Amino acid sequence: MSQSLDKVQTESAILYRQALEVMPGGCSRNTILRKPHPLYADNGRGCYLADKSGRSRIDFSNNLASLIHGHAHPAVVAAVVEQLYKGTAYTLATESEVRYAEHLCSRNKGFEQVRFVNSGTEAVMCCLKAARAYTGKPKIAKVEGCYHGSYDYAEVSQTAAPDNWGDADNPSSVPVVIGTPASALDGVIVIPFNDPGRAITILDNHAGKIACVLVDLLPHRVNLSPVSAEFITEIYRWTRKNNALLVYDEVITFRTLYGGAQDWFGVHPDLTALGKMIGGGFPAGAIAGCRDVMQVMNPLNDHCLFPLSGTFSANPITMVAGLTAMELYDRVAVERINNLGKRAREGIREAIRVADVPFCVSGAGSLFRVHVKPEVPEDYRTAYLAAEEGRLLNSLLDCLFDDGLMLINTCTGALSTVMTEKEIDFAVELFLDGFRKIRPLLAARTAA
Ligand code: PMP
Repeated sequence: MSQSLDKVQTESAILYRQALEVMPGGCSRNTILRKPHPLYADNGRGCYLADKSGRSRIDFSNNLASLIHGHAHPAVVAAVVEQLYKGTAYTLATESEVRYAEHLCSRNKGFEQVRFVNSGTEAVMCCLKAARAYTGKPKIAKVEGCYHGSYDYAEVSQTAAPDNWGDADNPSSVPVVIGTPASALDGVIVIPFNDPGRAITILDNHAGKIACVLVDLLPHRVNLSPVSAEFITEIYRWTRKNNALLVYDEVITFRTLYGGAQDWFGVHPDLTALGKMIGGGFPAGAIAGCRDVMQVMNPLNDHCLFPLSGTFSANPITMVAGLTAMELYDRVAVERINNLGKRAREGIREAIRVADVPFCVSGAGSLFRVHVKPEVPEDYRTAYLAAEEGRLLNSLLDCLFDDGLMLINTCTGALSTVMTEKEIDFAVELFLDGFRKIRPLLAARTAA
């Protein structure tokens, strides 16, 4: 074992033992866990992230797709440092909030007004509550397997499995957390991804009760495949006919075009949940939408249907970091990073062909996901990993991590603007190596 490996394993192992005493599982977010223990970070610069041994990896996770400019971008650092000296949160409004709201509204004509919150979870929750308040109806509809954060209603069926997901014509509402009230499960109608026929029939069965349909246009945990124009158009039409709102979760996908993935088809929702990258590296979320619906949150109305406050909402650190990051993420930057994303997907596709492994790659814009399946799965059910496939995926992720490539644990990559063709090509080389290294496991599987 090399000295540096020994050092990081020792230091991280010690830290993790201490962590296990004071946090269940030794952490606050399950996503950082690795076996036998997580590695502890030292610093991030640009597109590299170093652990405590000083070992650096190319970072294609970017804190779960939230750091659009990588780590410690100088412009964001400067803006935040300037604000830090003036204080971090006040019981007064700040100009930074107004400027940032103006900027977000200028990016998409459907964003007539916005409200800031502190996370993607909160943003989705607020969209759903706003939809209920606006329509006076109690239920929401969502796509099976989609991750929308941890609000009781939004997380229904996110982890559905073959033994509980029910009939494809009538998917069950499956809780993530034991103890979720039956009323919450009853409040959620689950539809399949990209299957307009089935989805519309299911929606029709609950038409009078549905406040909104919640859709992610490129659902990471389903298959990271774009929604079809037919699916989204049918859902949009259904909402118009049935006095329901269309809500998009663009917490991840907002990066895909200057005004978000909703500009792909021009099918605009009533409300959009934003998060991750809009915080410029700090905790953030936003609800953006048409003025009419956003008015449910207006406390100046005689009767405010949806009162909304949050201690740290629109804090000036997040506002200046977010505004700086998003101003930097202009149309030129979006096009450039999307071209790099295309290069990554094409390179990985070619590496899969050369290594001759039964894998495939999906994604769009600056995102890619590798599946341990020969064809891109159509929906959550076909994307669902058998135990053996899960082990194979983890072996691939471990290989890549050991060789210096950091990904999201679904084998998903989210590029940052500080990357160049050099880093993309290097990552593709690492993938080719990784595919070759796990080939023997595939052979063993076939032989078994
Ligand atoms: N929606 C989507 C599509 C997400 O990917 C996530 C987070 N991974 C969320 C919502 C929740 O965001 P947060 O973790 O900031 O609460």
